[in-house]
Amino acid sequence: GLTERLQGAMRKLRGKGKISEKDLRETMREIRLALLEADVNFTVVKDFVKQVRDRAMGADVLEGLNPAQQIVKIVDEELTKTMGDEAVSLNKSPKIPTIIMMVGLQGAGKTTTAGKLALKLKDEENARPLMIAGDVYRPAAIDQLVQVAEGIDVPVFQLGTDVNPVEIVRQGLAQAAENHNDYVIIDTAGRLQIDEQLMNELSEIKDLAHPDEILLTVDAMTGQNAVATAEGFNDKLDVTGVVLTKLDGDTRGGAALSIRAVTGKPIKFIGQGEKMTDLDVFHPDRMASRILGMGDMLSLIEKTQKDFDEKQAKALTEKIQENSFDFDDFLDQLEQIQKMGPMEEIMKMIPGMANNPALKNVQMDPKDMDHLKAVVYSMTPQERANPDLLNPSRRRRIAAGSGRPVQAVNRMIKQFNQMKKTMNQMSKGNMAGVEQMMGS
Ligand code: GDP
Ligand code: MG
Repeated sequence: GLTERLQGAMRKLRGKGKISEKDLRETMREIRLALLEADVNFTVVKDFVKQVRDRAMGADVLEGLNPAQQIVKIVDEELTKTMGDEAVSLNKSPKIPTIIMMVGLQGAGKTTTAGKLALKLKDEENARPLMIAGDVYRPAAIDQLVQVAEGIDVPVFQLGTDVNPVEIVRQGLAQAAENHNDYVIIDTAGRLQIDEQLMNELSEIKDLAHPDEILLTVDAMTGQNAVATAEGFNDKLDVTGVVLTKLDGDTRGGAALSIRAVTGKPIKFIGQGEKMTDLDVFHPDRMASRILGMGDMLSLIEKTQKDFDEKQAKALTEKIQENSFDFDDFLDQLEQIQKMGPMEEIMKMIPGMANNPALKNVQMDPKDMDHLKAVVYSMTPQERANPDLLNPSRRRRIAAGSGRPVQAVNRMIKQFNQMKKTMNQMSKGNMAGVEQMMGS
């Protein structure tokens, strides 16, 4: 994958006190190949490589301190810039409703994303969205939207498959006005590829609805095609933003790198799974770190904090910094983590874990979590608050109480102590990710 290739390219620089122009040229060649192989657009690659090379040659980087780390930093910054630098938020109308129109090819994820977005707006703004079922070409499309909407408790306006979608949208908007919905999300039809009939229909809907946001939904797994599609839709509809879906797979951002540069339109959201909660704001800097395999620590923190009281989070940070994180905190964390989703996904967001071969096929059994909890529940409050109390006889008692072998209890306590140490180190904000990557 892209990450391994980029890491490989830069690993060759490590340990070199000085980097010659030849070393740099070789590294840039490998970076270029890695990006092309990851299906990044040719022109984007060319510009990117030029930027990195110019900066690396420019400011005494090669002769300076830690040239290899500086080059990683430059690559990270240029990746971020290529993807637009800053997160761009949803366009909002000064008066309700804000109208969002989903467009994209069939199967890209429009309907799913419409639901995810509605849920996000409900959760974050207490919004009252209305969804309009504008895909009339397959009866199953309306059923699917209705099902999605029921799951998140959002109303759908639909007139079946016999009415022209433009008319459906017109009536849907009237209904939204009557009900004072603050958002309208229009789900539209897709095709297997761009065709004129579809574009005309979408243009008509656009002219009628004057959407504040036309969100082009693209499947990140389709690589260069995703970019071609984005260009096609953008030429016809002048979209306002892009949602990149299916970034939960093995795709590591080839499309993310091209789309902004090729269309000039910001990626606003990324879809990272099939669940309704799997939609995140797109942060170019975090995606850059992820592409470089430095983990996605910030997203992880944000994900944790979503269902997490801020005060609690602050207290936890302090505890980690004071190194007084105990088993009660551990239990809270386990419960938070269980709420967040599959453990494998979460682990991949931790720096150094993303490409850890040991994690390639890891499947974490939810039973393991329950075992961990059982062990903590068998501790006395004093033991939880003060893990140093856990001498062998207490450990035996806990093992008996939790129905776990004493070795398992020992192993868990050892892992807890390691985790505590790692968290404490990470909280000191060192450049662990970069250093680990450079092997120093
Ligand atoms: P539409 O034809 O554009 O409306 O696409 P759908 O919303 O029906 O999505 C097509 C398929 O992609 C469905 O099976 C979705 O569950 C799936 N899907 C959508 N977004 C994501 C995503 O971010 N990750 C994954 N893994 N699957 C997704
Ligand atoms: Mg659909």
